[in-house]
Parts: sequence; structure tokens; C-alpha cells
Amino acid sequence: MAPSANCPTCRAALQLTNHDTFDSWICPNGHGLAATLSELYERAQEDEIHDLWKLAKASWVADEPTEGRACPMCDRIMVSIAVGTDADEVDEGQAGDGPATGEVPVDVCVVDQVIWFDVDELEVLPADLADPQPTPEQEAAVADIARQFGDELVAADAARVGFTSRLMRRLGHSPKAAAAVNPTAPADA
Ligand SMILES: [Zn+2]
Ligand SMILES: [Zn+2]
Repeated sequence: MAPSANCPTCRAALQLTNHDTFDSWICPNGHGLAATLSELYERAQEDEIHDLWKLAKASWVADEPTEGRACPMCDRIMVSIAVGTDADEVDEGQAGDGPATGEVPVDVCVVDQVIWFDVDELEVLPADLADPQPTPEQEAAVADIARQFGDELVAADAARVGFTSRLMRRLGHSPKAAAAVNPTAPADA
């Protein structure tokens, strides 16, 4: 990956944040984050990632885009695709695959295998189905991501199912960690 990266929205230098389980490039102005395909497995469900990559490659081969937003890493125009989402981690069409519950639009650079999520987009992508008891390292990582997205998002999240709520669910068995991410979370959430 390139030594520097820029936000496709505001061109600010993205900040690489390293975690034990998830590395991403985050816009300091809160527009979203870039993650590599391989890193995304730490954050999202496998079936959605499989679909995402399949769609992105197909779209790129069929019609390399000439308009759209620039890749944070290489400045090529990214392909914009919409990935169907569901609650499980079973591939589309396989036994146990549940009905689609939504759709998340993302931008992908097929060359760099980089996926850009606007902050709203990442909220829609169902969180990886984590172990019921996250390790202290995992708790620290998700708390850090929440902080990187800003207090604004955390504060606005009380009434809706969003990125922060997903983090809360991921931390469901650890009220102490949940409270660290969102000071307004009830201690017995
Ligand atoms: Zn930005
Ligand atoms: Zn690129």
C-alpha cells in the first residue's frame, strides 16, 4: 500500500490506525475509512466480503469507470457497487443463507484491493459475528475505531441502529467496555 493516502471526499491525509485485529485509514474529518480487502475480514461478515469483491471485479472488467471518486491510494477512479447484506455469514445461495436485509454502497479500487466506506456506509455493513467474549485487545480496538469516528457519531447514535450500536452489540457481554465507548450507555446494557 502507498505510504500516504487521501480522503476521496476532502483530500485530507488519511490516518493509518493499527490495531491487533483491524487496520484502517481514517479521514481526520470523519468522512469515513479505507480498508484493504484482507483487513475487512476483521470487521465484516465473510459472505458480504465475498459478494463485494466479486461485484467489484466484475464491474471493473466490464466497464472500468471514468467518473466517480478517486482511490485514496492510487487516484484511479473507484468502482461504485452496492452489496446486499444479511445477518449471517453464509455465502449467497448456500444452505443457511438468510434473506437479504439491506444494501450497502461502497467504492472499491480493484488494483489496490482497497475499499472505501463513507461513514454512513460502514454503519450499514453488518458487523462481523464476533466471539461472545471479546478479548481486551478487541475491546480496545473497537473503542479506538469509535473514537476515530468522533464523539458526534457516538452522541447521535442513541436512537438508531448504527455503527456504534453494532459495536455495542459486539461488546454486549462487556458493559464496562461498552460504557467506555459510549458514556451514555446504561451500565447494564
Ligand atoms: Zn475527508
Ligand atoms: Zn487504487
